[in-house]
Amino acid sequence: MKIHAIETGLVSVKSRQRKGVGSVGRRINTLLDKTWTEWLPIYCWVIEHPEGIIVIDTGETARTSNPSHFPKWHPYFRLGVQMQVEPEQEVGPQIKKLGLSLNDVRWVIMTHLHTDHAGGLSHFPESEFLISRQEYALSLGLKGKIRGYLPNYFPKWFEPRIVGYTVGEYGAFRMGYTLTKAEDVLVVPTPGHTPGHQSVILRDGNITYLFAGDTSYNEQLMIDRSVDGVSPNTNLAGQTIDRIHRFISVEPTVYLPSHDPMSKERMMQRIPTMIS
Ligand SMILES: [Zn+2]
Repeated sequence: MKIHAIETGLVSVKSRQRKGVGSVGRRINTLLDKTWTEWLPIYCWVIEHPEGIIVIDTGETARTSNPSHFPKWHPYFRLGVQMQVEPEQEVGPQIKKLGLSLNDVRWVIMTHLHTDHAGGLSHFPESEFLISRQEYALSLGLKGKIRGYLPNYFPKWFEPRIVGYTVGEYGAFRMGYTLTKAEDVLVVPTPGHTPGHQSVILRDGNITYLFAGDTSYNEQLMIDRSVDGVSPNTNLAGQTIDRIHRFISVEPTVYLPSHDPMSKERMMQRIPTMIS
């Protein structure tokens, strides 16, 4: 199956967001950190599946270069994040450049609704969006804005389908949702970075891909069981990382977080993650 890594620009966050520090004051520690990460890719993914094109996350938009795009009253947007996105880097133009039609995108699976994943929603008015119930609920309204979502930029027509997880053959994840008739694309809950965060499993012959969103900022941090510095519940995030470890230990899996500079290379070379 053909998979494309689409880099929709760059993001930089505080070093302590990538690798959390402390316990109670963890999220404050992140905001007050004076050091920034290097520029990191904002990946989304396109799978040319026989049942229709599947897109995972929609990346960021060039509107972020407008200084008034982000709410000034929000400490995270004022202190904690920087973006660089050119218009031609948005997911829509990039899919067209691959020779694919946006109208042929059947499903868009959202790992979560933070702006660097949901910025490109408007490119897919004809597609069916899949999101976890909790993620969608937590993103809406003023409370959603306080949590760091930007629901004011969701398109008017945005009415995602809520994914119904059931117990089944999802390995260490136990619960999940099988999207395709071929039973090769699965959506599994991976709470942590956000309480409603989910990931996507693609089983392609003898290799499995895990499109992991922001379960960690890179492969090494997942291997080290390191939780990021913005997860509201570090225990839950740690449990998800444990599940990923157990899943990977029984099934050779290419681990693909959204902001790992090595994700594209691992996907193209089909390099599974080794946990010793
Ligand atoms: Zn992200």
